[in-house]
Amino acid sequence: MTALSTEIRENPQRADDASPFSVCIVGCGNIGSAVVAMMARSQAVSTLILIDPDAYEARNLSGQCILRTDVGRPKVRAMAALAHRINPALDVVPIAARVEDVPLGAVRGVTALLSCLDSRGPRLYLNRTCQRLGIPWIDAGVDPDLHLVRVNVYRQGPDEPCLECAMSPVDYAALSARHPCDRATPDAAPTNAPASLGALAASLMVVEADKVVRGDWDDAAARRQVTFCTRTHRHVVTAFDRREDCLSGHEHWDVLPLGGSARTTTLRQVLDAPNGTTVRIAGRAFTRALVCADCGATRSVLRLESRLTAAQSRCRRCGQPGMVPVASQQLERLDAPSLSDRHLAWPLARVGLRDGDIVSVAREGHPDAHLLIGPDCAGNETSRNHSDPAPEEIPHA
Ligand SMILES: [Zn+2]
Ligand SMILES: [Zn+2]
Repeated sequence: MTALSTEIRENPQRADDASPFSVCIVGCGNIGSAVVAMMARSQAVSTLILIDPDAYEARNLSGQCILRTDVGRPKVRAMAALAHRINPALDVVPIAARVEDVPLGAVRGVTALLSCLDSRGPRLYLNRTCQRLGIPWIDAGVDPDLHLVRVNVYRQGPDEPCLECAMSPVDYAALSARHPCDRATPDAAPTNAPASLGALAASLMVVEADKVVRGDWDDAAARRQVTFCTRTHRHVVTAFDRREDCLSGHEHWDVLPLGGSARTTTLRQVLDAPNGTTVRIAGRAFTRALVCADCGATRSVLRLESRLTAAQSRCRRCGQPGMVPVASQQLERLDAPSLSDRHLAWPLARVGLRDGDIVSVAREGHPDAHLLIGPDCAGNETSRNHSDPAPEEIPHA
């Protein structure tokens, strides 16, 4: 074999027309670090979106598929470099953030999403997000104490079971007890699982991902959980059904363009319509006041709780970065009557909304409209259904 042919074999160049698929990998730890290396070798995928807020630490060397030179680097940066070394033609989008903080426009339109998370709160968030955006997703996990790996495949559709269809009230209670403030690190493994177990889960996941991106639903493990025990060498396949009283809501959104960016569209342009128009953003709340956890000073604001600026977080009286939202001043949604003229003149960005966010606008007697702020990051058709409201009824910048 010549040097040239070796190089071509090891650096597969994607053919644009043959590999239009994109995959989002959430979590670059025990499972995710092995998934990235395998997905980068997939001939079917041209774009990888990587999401993880953390940096690699020396203690990750034993459990994650990384090099000593990766220690100290943001996980998504180290994994993006690895993916590029495997396939320089791959488009890799590293996003160093908690998945709950990523604007939905960044993942909207991906062919499949792979959840490599160990905590249930963020997985619940992914379940509902993928339902709303119609994204098939695969969830993998390991249990080092029980020597188990598992993979679940979730297809989207009115009769398809979701993660929460299999959850009991006890599961929900355990969830709120374990993550009282919903600030869990996505891949905060309860134990340091060995790299071999993570790689086994990763292999099962990538096998299923390959079927899902190619649309091979006959062979994909949809509606099922596949579990393998490395101690007994037994595997178990469990089937799930859609539960009618599932708490996830099983919503599907038809997303329309807002028609303006967060910097140029004002709150008045979104809210100044008849029939009590309100705007909210799923899974987030606004606050009208902050209090300093150190000295008790208070300050009025109008901002998404999860997107306070550094200046807003810093107390003007004691100088500590301890300003937190006041629980009694939380707003699930904004409406014109409760806002001053000054606030209504603000651009959406000033309350913490960003391009790529999807806001839900409600009017009496109409179904919610789900509007994508700014340009469409996914670059795909912004609408599959123009039924109601019609695009011209939506406020433009
Ligand atoms: Zn469900
Ligand atoms: Zn203070």
